[in-house]
Amino acid sequence: MPTVQTIPRPADDDLPAILGGRPMRPAGPPDWPGAEPNVAAAVQSALADGSWGRYHGPHTAKLAEVIACAHGGCDVSLCSSGTAAVELALRGLRVGPGDEVILAAYDFRGNFQNVLTVGATPVLIDIHPANWNLDPSHLAAAVTSKTKAIIASHLHGGVVPMSAVVRFAREATSPIPVIEDAAQMPGATIEGRMAGTWGDVGILSFGGSKLLSAGRGGAVITSNADIAQRIKLYTQRGNDAYPLSELQAAALLPQWDRLAGNNRRRTASANRLRELLAAVPGLRPFENDVANSQPGFYKFGLQYDPATFGSLPRDTFAAAMRAEGIALDPGFRSLHLTHASRRFRAVGTLAHASDADARVLTLHHPVLLEGPDAMQQIADAAERIRRHAAAIRERGPGC
Ligand SMILES: *Cc1c(COP(=O)(O)O)cnc(C)c1O
Repeated sequence: MPTVQTIPRPADDDLPAILGGRPMRPAGPPDWPGAEPNVAAAVQSALADGSWGRYHGPHTAKLAEVIACAHGGCDVSLCSSGTAAVELALRGLRVGPGDEVILAAYDFRGNFQNVLTVGATPVLIDIHPANWNLDPSHLAAAVTSKTKAIIASHLHGGVVPMSAVVRFAREATSPIPVIEDAAQMPGATIEGRMAGTWGDVGILSFGGSKLLSAGRGGAVITSNADIAQRIKLYTQRGNDAYPLSELQAAALLPQWDRLAGNNRRRTASANRLRELLAAVPGLRPFENDVANSQPGFYKFGLQYDPATFGSLPRDTFAAAMRAEGIALDPGFRSLHLTHASRRFRAVGTLAHASDADARVLTLHHPVLLEGPDAMQQIADAAERIRRHAAAIRERGPGC
């Protein structure tokens, strides 16, 4: 009797993970922060020498000094978060009730909230169509006699052309202070200058997912003695407000030493990914043609075009990429679409910010410390999802 052999159907090697295939990156996104022996040693030593239990000690002092040196000798106030840093920047500039603050309609939500916190009104301007960051050409239409500050944030590997922002602000009838939000790119170079040093005040974040992380934390940077003094008065009233602890500073110092090297590795990966994605229609990296700039990459921002992916909705595409082991997520919600219109003043139609609300994707940074193979896997995963877009669309995003 002939034996009937059941030949197992060969696995469809091309099947996307969201449809049951093998993930392109089975290990998933790298941990962040990863194992950092230098951080462990620094924290151990702070535990051993008792500095961990002090209000003020050598680590916070040293961190403030290191950041000040890196930013051309500015005054540095450490604080509890990047969000607190923006609030302190606004207070240092004496922004208050009745004032207006200009920012991009696509920006970190906390920046909008901070303007309200100090009693001022956010004035939202549109973003640049190709780099999806604040577009200085809209500043002129936004200024009134109430304008007291401009917040410029560098987002998702895009860079705000700061020389244009600062030139505009200085040449205004009444000069306008600029807050440069460098939370997403510590150590970056913008038009030949360190990110955070262009405006009157700059801010950094040491939040849990950021490039330098103590779980929480931030810094305010300024070269203006009056602003520095007002921030110090505000934070040192009675007891310290919004402080950064010795233990946090101890954990950050060794990371600062590695920042420049890590920024170079991330930039090399981002450049490689940019090259690979030139052949992947529908995933367009935030354009970055601001001269003499070396952006940082807390996120690598992409403009997603659903039409090229068989009408697969952005959030479903992101879910399919995450199933492949790639940390890709929708970006921020745009501020004018998520707040009551009485809370802000809109300048123009904010059409690009509305577009960004629907189409931004962000790749989280840890994978950028890996090599070119990882970048190839990201591009390959996108193409594999495209080949199966119809089936994924039918299945829906799942849970
Ligand atoms: C993360 C972030 C902040 C705030 O930092 P936290 O430390 O999380 O409060 C501010 N601005 C931008 C652009 C950010 O990405």
